[in-house]
Amino acid sequence: MRYISTRGNSPPRSFEDVLCSGLASDGGLYVPETWPCIERRTITADTRYADAAYEILSRFASGEFAGPELKADIEGAYAAFEVPEVAPLVQIDDNRYLLELFHGPTLAFKDIAMQVLGRLFERALERSKSRATIVAATSGDTGSAAIAALGGLSRIDLFVLHPRNRISEVQRRQMTTARFGNVHNIAIEGTFDDAQNIVKSLFADEEFSANARLAAVNSINFVRIAAQSVYYFTAAARLARPPIFVVPTGNFGDVFAGEAAMRMGLEIERLVVATNANDILCRAIHDGVYSTRAAEPTLSPSMDIQVASNFERALFEASNRDGAWVRGAMAEFAECRRLEIPRTVLVNLRARYEAYRCDDAQTLETIASVYRQTGRLVDPHTAVGVHAADRLDTSPETPLVVLSTADPAKFPESVRSETGIVPPLPPRLSDLYEREEHVTVLPNDREQVRAFIEHRLANV
Ligand SMILES: *Cc1c(COP(=O)(O)O)cnc(C)c1O
Repeated sequence: MRYISTRGNSPPRSFEDVLCSGLASDGGLYVPETWPCIERRTITADTRYADAAYEILSRFASGEFAGPELKADIEGAYAAFEVPEVAPLVQIDDNRYLLELFHGPTLAFKDIAMQVLGRLFERALERSKSRATIVAATSGDTGSAAIAALGGLSRIDLFVLHPRNRISEVQRRQMTTARFGNVHNIAIEGTFDDAQNIVKSLFADEEFSANARLAAVNSINFVRIAAQSVYYFTAAARLARPPIFVVPTGNFGDVFAGEAAMRMGLEIERLVVATNANDILCRAIHDGVYSTRAAEPTLSPSMDIQVASNFERALFEASNRDGAWVRGAMAEFAECRRLEIPRTVLVNLRARYEAYRCDDAQTLETIASVYRQTGRLVDPHTAVGVHAADRLDTSPETPLVVLSTADPAKFPESVRSETGIVPPLPPRLSDLYEREEHVTVLPNDREQVRAFIEHRLANV
């Protein structure tokens, strides 16, 4: 399988190249040249999660990792999960389900892909006897998932940038209390988008990028999308009819993994993009205008994003893979912070996606109403999804699956204020509030971040 750029101007690359790099050289994102077809009988209600993941990832890796190696890495990744199903589907109502994606080491869905990615990464570096530097911007959960997956590896240095005071205390402590020599936490005086822009500009700096051997583990890395498509298959296989998936959305990676599943042949009724008050995606799908506004801090900080990198992949597909158009459109967007989506592209997007916005007051009301109606605690990100599900106009036969992306214990303040219950951290994290933190605060300035990284790398 080869991978091409959404901007149509980079040479095709291998799976291993895509795994170990970041953006394509033309600034685009990698997508498979053709989508593999997963036949319906391949993944059934009885298929183990790790086996389903192997079925899908082996198509994307197509021989670049030997079968037993890939299998071992997938088994290793999911052995660390707290429940044997990995991603259990929990029924909460006649036709409603929560797909619980937070049973990994850092209590949010990002572990599901990151645990596999880390193992494959290490294997690839081992093979080429090389090192890599990973620089990642995080709105909270990517950072801790990356640290859990890559901390302590000998061929990788990991720099994680988070927006200072804009993530939850549990999220921050999960990152800053890690005790690995290869992990470096940076708090940026700015928003997530500022941090993401710094990372993007470091990647765009060819000299720095080559010297430091930069690689990405955020959802611009296609391997994450591939790994996340698995739970759409395992969940749908348990239901009698093609479901609607409701996806709490920030960078559009998770919901695009749903589109990937559809393109591999999975029958999905619709994908619902659920955003918080940072609603660029919602406005884009409703109004056909993709335009940024200032990012606003909310109770669901992992979705406090204005520029959704992965939306470019959806635009590429919705334009019938017109790389030249995507290139022009993204250049226009970079310049004007605004893009009018052409009618034909918008029609294709709307054929798959529907979108709803949920503000903080609605998020809290939803946490309260889920608790009242089902006795369950949901975190604020999941609540944004449930709120969208509440507003959908659907037939009662269509199963509605809300992706539950974080453990409520990761966001205890909102949960306590609405239910009176403090969701407990699992025993392995129970001393989180006592552990010592390690973090460097830097201004929103790419040169200072670059100098810091160079300094740390020189002292490895
Ligand atoms: C990252 C994250 C999201 C958003 O996922 P995207 O792939 O960025 O759209 C939603 N909820 C939680 C808890 C997250 O960590």
